[in-house]
Amino acid sequence: MGIVVQKFGGTSVADAEKIKNVADAVIREKLNGNKVIVVVSAMGHTTDNLIKLSKEITTKPPEREMDILLSTGEQVSMSLLAMAINEKGHKAVSLNGMQVGIMTEPKHGRARIVDIKQERVKKYLDNDEIVIVAGFQGITEDGEITTLGRGGSDTSAVALAAAFNADRCDIYSDVEAVYTTDPRVVPTAQKLKVTSYEEMLELARVGANVLHPRSVETAKLFGVPMRVRSSFKLDDLGTLIIGVEEMELHKPVTGLACDSSQVRVVICDVPDKPGNAGKLFALLAERGLSVDMIIQSYARSNGNTNDIAFTIDKGDVAKFEEIIPEIKEVMNPSNIHIDEDIAKVSIVGAGMIDRPGIAAQMFEALAELGINIKMISTSEIKISCLVEKCHAKEAVVALCKVFELDGAAVADVKGDLPD
Ligand code: ASP
Ligand code: MG
Repeated sequence: MGIVVQKFGGTSVADAEKIKNVADAVIREKLNGNKVIVVVSAMGHTTDNLIKLSKEITTKPPEREMDILLSTGEQVSMSLLAMAINEKGHKAVSLNGMQVGIMTEPKHGRARIVDIKQERVKKYLDNDEIVIVAGFQGITEDGEITTLGRGGSDTSAVALAAAFNADRCDIYSDVEAVYTTDPRVVPTAQKLKVTSYEEMLELARVGANVLHPRSVETAKLFGVPMRVRSSFKLDDLGTLIIGVEEMELHKPVTGLACDSSQVRVVICDVPDKPGNAGKLFALLAERGLSVDMIIQSYARSNGNTNDIAFTIDKGDVAKFEEIIPEIKEVMNPSNIHIDEDIAKVSIVGAGMIDRPGIAAQMFEALAELGINIKMISTSEIKISCLVEKCHAKEAVVALCKVFELDGAAVADVKGDLPD
């Protein structure tokens, strides 16, 4: 008898009716002859509401108390789902992170799972019970409650699938599948039947909000096949995510994402000497600011200085502004610009490895529209271009056409992007 892990997101368990619907999906998997472990997120907007509530009390809630608060959301949905399954005549038991023994590092708000204890879950599975586990939470060696970062239930599910050597990990949410690009921007975007961990990771990092990136990393590491599917369309198998070596690669580009959640920072005229980039990025790292695209310009012969440009999350601008005086003191730049009017458009595809000309095709397509590229970054399977926000939709639509990511004629969508 194989083990299947099913994970249901907040919209799938948003109210009592939906929880009953999830109970049917779980029972169906059990009746297929599987042992079933279910992971749930908090109901609907519970986590957002708890965060809001804490902010009404204090602007700086202690991280430890925040984790205790936020971990309650998942406990509500897990117990209600266990009741719904029992009500339908099947045996189910719910367990929180502490009861299972989902061991994490001692880092509040963004802990990583280090180990999952097997005994308790195994005992219930052996007794033919469905086990429902609270997502997004764990416990440290010292018995402190931790959470895994927003969207972390996906990672709980994959980690459980890896620990129990499950046949698959199905992530049920309100999206039916992974699409070639955002269907809100390109209405003819196609559903991907299959994609690779590598492509999914790049898409998740560049702003396709389908899966928690760490869940995909974990699945890749342990070779857990994942499926993204809808809890409202149980017959639709959604998208299968597997290793790139198991896939047949037909197209160079499988997906396209657009991210308007970053800003560009340009530090002008940084003296061109060893150590300055190290100092700059160490200052950012000390504040926990993660940096995405980085460009250092060619040193100009007259002034012996470089410009260093990089992108950070919009939400981190205030933290960045706090270290501007230090940056000025350490490297005496002539200016520091923060440019909010940007969007990052990225094409992703494992099929672009060893295939020349993909970058040229992308840049030419943007040039034809008169769109200026402000920054470029690449990985083996991704090319990202930073453009002005007002051109982002146009760029997405054109690139979908060039790389055949949509079926029919592309809709002519222009204007600002949905955030
Ligand atoms: N409830 C948590 C959140 O909203 C975890 C999750 O949904 O995956 O971020
Ligand atoms: Mg989620």
